[in-house]
Amino acid sequence: MIADVETVLRGPESYAMARKAIDAMEQNEVWPTALNFELWLHVVADPEGPIAREIQRLMTLGQAITDTLAEELAATYLPKARLNEQIRNAGDQLSKELATVAKAIEHAQKTSEQYGNTLAGASKELSEQTDTLQIKRLVDTLASATRRVQRENKSLEKRLSESTAEVNRLKDHLEQVRRDASTDSLTNLANRKAFDEELGRACADAETSGEPLTLALIDIDHFKSFNDTWGHQTGDQVIRYVASVMGRMAPPPRFAARYGGEEFAMIFPGETAHAVEQVLEEIREEVSSRMLKRRSTNEDLGTITVSAGLAQRAARETIHALLERADTALYASKRTGRNRVTNAEAVDAAA
Ligand code: GH3
Ligand code: MG
Ligand code: MG
Repeated sequence: MIADVETVLRGPESYAMARKAIDAMEQNEVWPTALNFELWLHVVADPEGPIAREIQRLMTLGQAITDTLAEELAATYLPKARLNEQIRNAGDQLSKELATVAKAIEHAQKTSEQYGNTLAGASKELSEQTDTLQIKRLVDTLASATRRVQRENKSLEKRLSESTAEVNRLKDHLEQVRRDASTDSLTNLANRKAFDEELGRACADAETSGEPLTLALIDIDHFKSFNDTWGHQTGDQVIRYVASVMGRMAPPPRFAARYGGEEFAMIFPGETAHAVEQVLEEIREEVSSRMLKRRSTNEDLGTITVSAGLAQRAARETIHALLERADTALYASKRTGRNRVTNAEAVDAAA
């Protein structure tokens, strides 16, 4: 049924359907983000479909449709299919493009082979020919064969430059698709998948270079109760705010990602735990000192805090072990009162 939504959206009911989706989002207190709009279009266009049924089920359970959840739904029901299709289409176009180029080259080869034969034949005939009229005829034949080859080359050149443009366009498109697939849509930070890849690369680089590498995990404190008090939509804005603070503090080669719901991760290549501790303190202070206001009503939301744990990678340490030490340090921050930064070394020393 999913394909039908696309048809409905180009038919007489399109605008009524779009309005219905917006109304449904408003009724269910869901932000009208592009992603939610797409999901809710499916809900209203196909109320018996898998997306509608899943959203219905979640809401019956009292689950708020957060951006995270919306993303999970989309990953299950929407963009994966779309992403795969885009990649498949780009692949198809690429093979088509290459096939025409191969044909054009083959054709040009044949023409130039014929030209070679013509030249060889003419050369032989010329060496034996004394009649000027016959020689003139031969030269005419050669001239027209030359013109044909020139035309052929021109058209091949044109075809090749068209293909280059098309292949570049496809390359850009695939890069965009790849970027989308590694970005968290709520915060615009890297998503978990991109983080995992980056951490793998950073660990391998650190192992080779012997440079330090520090990993940090940051989690918003008591966020469940914040959500319970102010609602998920306001909670989402807070997640975006915290993400923006981290994004600002993470110019390359630093790397910041949304690790999970209200949890973030940062990679600091070439930096020691000591240096990173200062950065995290800055982030912690910035967040805790900011008076939050609800965008829509300007209501005072008070302040929130974050806890952080960090670990500097030991020589030959596995990714898993490094993550675990950072997580233990984060947990120590939580256990000892939150709104603090804990270095894994301190935890190790205490143990
Ligand atoms: P702690 O200080 O121990 O971290 O307490 P906490 O309440 O932050 O931690 P807990 O893991 O119990 O709850 C995390 C909450 O974060 C649960 C959920 O309501 C909220 N959350 C997770 N993802 C999102 C999201 O995408 N949007 C919003 N608004 N809330 C989210
Ligand atoms: Mg938390
Ligand atoms: Mg958490």
